[in-house]
Amino acid sequence: MNLTDTHCHLDYNKFDPDRAEVIRRATDSGLVRILVPGLHHRSSKEAVLLAETNSGVYAAVGFHPTDLQEFSEETFQEVKELARHPKVVAIGEIGMDYYWVKEPERRAFQREALRRQLQFAKEVGKPVIIHMREENDAWLGEASVDLLGILEEWQTALQGPLAEKPGVLHSFNGNLETAQKALELGFYIGVTGPVTYKNAEEKRGIIRQIPLDKILIETDAPFLAPVPFRGKRNEPAFVHHIADKIAEIHSKSPAEIAGITTANAARLFAWGD
Ligand SMILES: [Zn+2]
Repeated sequence: MNLTDTHCHLDYNKFDPDRAEVIRRATDSGLVRILVPGLHHRSSKEAVLLAETNSGVYAAVGFHPTDLQEFSEETFQEVKELARHPKVVAIGEIGMDYYWVKEPERRAFQREALRRQLQFAKEVGKPVIIHMREENDAWLGEASVDLLGILEEWQTALQGPLAEKPGVLHSFNGNLETAQKALELGFYIGVTGPVTYKNAEEKRGIIRQIPLDKILIETDAPFLAPVPFRGKRNEPAFVHHIADKIAEIHSKSPAEIAGITTANAARLFAWGD
């Protein structure tokens, strides 16, 4: 097995007691790379430190839409400087969250912060990791519509390799139409633990229609543990449960899915084979 976890919050304090063992278990279970995204300037710095001290770990830097309290010229500048690090392979996670944020002004600020970070990603030529969550976790709503509008405006102005592979919609939870629009813009679709849940037939129906060369697998640990660990702390070693489920959905072997999704991640994040 040759697996990649393209989204894992290894800097979270839930991993403080045993982070080194978590990374060791990941390596032992066949993971070749783990990508740690930032949530704000401090966690972006932690992600870069983890990448510096662990050969298979890479980082992304940025401000998550529910973590904009400290977004300022100064903290954004810190993130911009971190982005120069050779192991920073993306800008993220950035995006829209209308589940936790309901006030119109705060939603408008999310869109502004997203636009500025997209502009920065364009300047440094790095792909973006997009978080998108609808009010009440609906399949379709204002977050999808607003997000796709902003991404389309950004993507159509891109040139060079970034236009072909602008980023990933991480832990995708939208409907098929939103997925298809994202694919048209060149985005990858990130699949997490909920695809393994018993009641996720509709989600599996959507994943079945995503071309295999556009799927990334991710744990989003410590959250969203797959079956049979649902409700427990998630960790990168569990990513094979997601690969197994995608193998079932797409009628392939788990090893094939591991190989394909690892190659997809290498293409998007340009970190070598
Ligand atoms: Zn995340």
